[in-house]
Amino acid sequence: MGFMGERVSGPEIERLIQLLARLPGLGPRSARRAALHLIRKREELLAPLTDAMQAAREKIVACTVCGNIDTCDPCAICRDERRDAATLVVVETVADLWALERAGALRPRYHVLGGTLSPLDGVGPKDLNLSSLVDRVATGGVREVILAVNATVDGQTTAHYVTDLLAHLGVKTTRLAHGVPVGGELDYLDEGTLAAAIRARTDF
Ligand SMILES: [Zn+2]
Repeated sequence: MGFMGERVSGPEIERLIQLLARLPGLGPRSARRAALHLIRKREELLAPLTDAMQAAREKIVACTVCGNIDTCDPCAICRDERRDAATLVVVETVADLWALERAGALRPRYHVLGGTLSPLDGVGPKDLNLSSLVDRVATGGVREVILAVNATVDGQTTAHYVTDLLAHLGVKTTRLAHGVPVGGELDYLDEGTLAAAIRARTDF
């Protein structure tokens, strides 16, 4: 305890720890552990990770059509002719797009808004990719717009806004069902989820 404030390691290592600590899910303690792990596995892990990050920095671009990120523009999804061009899934973030792709229930096209409308945080319509969405739908070929936004107040506000925005274009707008998660037990659900699930019940 007599050496409080004295640095344990060199500035390069401190910098590595500080940057790792900015990653989601990592606090200062886990960042220190991650840094030590990387340093110990210098050749097997640190070197390839450095190369992968360098390549990501140089090659990754945002798709100018849908807002997905990829190493080509338009992205692989927008280029894929086998996808259903009549179904456009609107998501908040690229992470949501990737989650839906992993689920694999549909082979649609996507549109990434880049967030949600949030008056309290000063996020208005101009801050989201909304005009490009209207342009895409107005160009024709889209029959259904699925609003796959989060079941939060901001997500639902955004869904209503987008529905109004597209109302004159003659497309069907749908939203995700709210309900019992697969494998979920009723007794553990919150009242809001349970109420939404029983209202949205379906035929067997
Ligand atoms: Zn794209």
